[in-house]
Amino acid sequence: MEKLNQVLLRDDVRVGADLEAWLAIGGGEGLAKALCDPGAVIGEIEQADLRGMGGAGFATHRKWAPVAAAADGDKTIICNGNEDEPGTFKDRFLLEHTPHQVIEGALIAAAATRANHIVLYVNPHQQQAIAVIRQAVGQWQAHPRYAELERLLGAPLSLGVVPSSGLYIGGEETAVIASVEGGFPFPRRKPPFPSQQGVHGAPSIVNNVETLAHIPGILRHGAQWYRDLGIGNATGTKLYSLSGDVLRPGLYELPMGTSLESLVFEHGGGMLQGKEFKAVFTGGPSNTLLTKRDLDVALDFDSVRLRRSRLGTGAMIVVSEGTSIVRKVAEFVSFFAQGSCGQCPPCKGGSFQLMRLLNRIDTGRGVHADLAALENLCRILPGSGRCGLIDGAVTVVESSLHQFREEYEALLMA
Ligand code: SF4
Repeated sequence: MEKLNQVLLRDDVRVGADLEAWLAIGGGEGLAKALCDPGAVIGEIEQADLRGMGGAGFATHRKWAPVAAAADGDKTIICNGNEDEPGTFKDRFLLEHTPHQVIEGALIAAAATRANHIVLYVNPHQQQAIAVIRQAVGQWQAHPRYAELERLLGAPLSLGVVPSSGLYIGGEETAVIASVEGGFPFPRRKPPFPSQQGVHGAPSIVNNVETLAHIPGILRHGAQWYRDLGIGNATGTKLYSLSGDVLRPGLYELPMGTSLESLVFEHGGGMLQGKEFKAVFTGGPSNTLLTKRDLDVALDFDSVRLRRSRLGTGAMIVVSEGTSIVRKVAEFVSFFAQGSCGQCPPCKGGSFQLMRLLNRIDTGRGVHADLAALENLCRILPGSGRCGLIDGAVTVVESSLHQFREEYEALLMA
């Protein structure tokens, strides 16, 4: 099968912690351009319409611009590699196989925003990724362009690896900041946004690993090149983590805007054991389920949103006919309940209540009142937390109730 437009996963960019090999294939050219004209970088990123690949799909240039505009002083770029949600396995691959691409993206961000700190925040369960990225950091620090960047900044640049908390909630951007400051990764309400008040109160940017990995190519080849990689109005490429009941699960880099049908049936080889496609948990399992009638959806941020779901991280957990949606939802909600940091009682208590009710129904012990209680929780819990965890848990429950209600009802005791 032809692999189209790969930028992040091409065989020749998988050079591990070998900076010379990265430079030999054109790595470093993006940084060189940024050093020549740092004032043009954010405009180029805007033209490319690069979105945040960690879940929200927020325009990258809108995170960068306020930090660039802030007065000189301490500013921090955080590369968020906490990656811990079910079905997502893209950032680890990038950190292990093409760390220089990620670091170069962060160095370009520092040049564009005049940031003097870069923190590579990596899940501690990914020891291989930490070892590779540490080696890669040392190589960049010894490279002449690093000194050139420090001259541009007029200050020493700190670049280091910080093991993350490894907790699911530790990937939320305000939790990342709390953790980098040395505290427990408690999320907080926004505003203030990290660009206004980030690490130790200074302007900061939290970008996902994949987001930063796209930056060197955009700078090297130009925004139009990046735009042309996508399909329709979507720009660039996307890493899709495909898992579940498909023949060929794995990590696929495809044009942004590839259809769900193409991902599952063409690239993923179709359903296991020839079963029927039933649904997909998208973007990490905290979004509205996509079903058969959504197979034509283009997998880009805007198109998926039009189906009232979210592309999120690009994780696609595929479910076939015969697999219990109630059980899958119970498993995912259990993950969220365990992951709740407990700051907001409705989140901690509510997520455990959801889990308890789902488990009861799934194991055939549920009654109609449990279904009603589940629906009631879905009405009262949204918006009750400081971060989006409880809203995400409710979304997947509500969506499954709406689309697969008959499965719930069939499990209830008479
Ligand atoms: Fe913690 Fe949940 Fe509150 Fe988020 S919503 S801050 S996870 S208790």
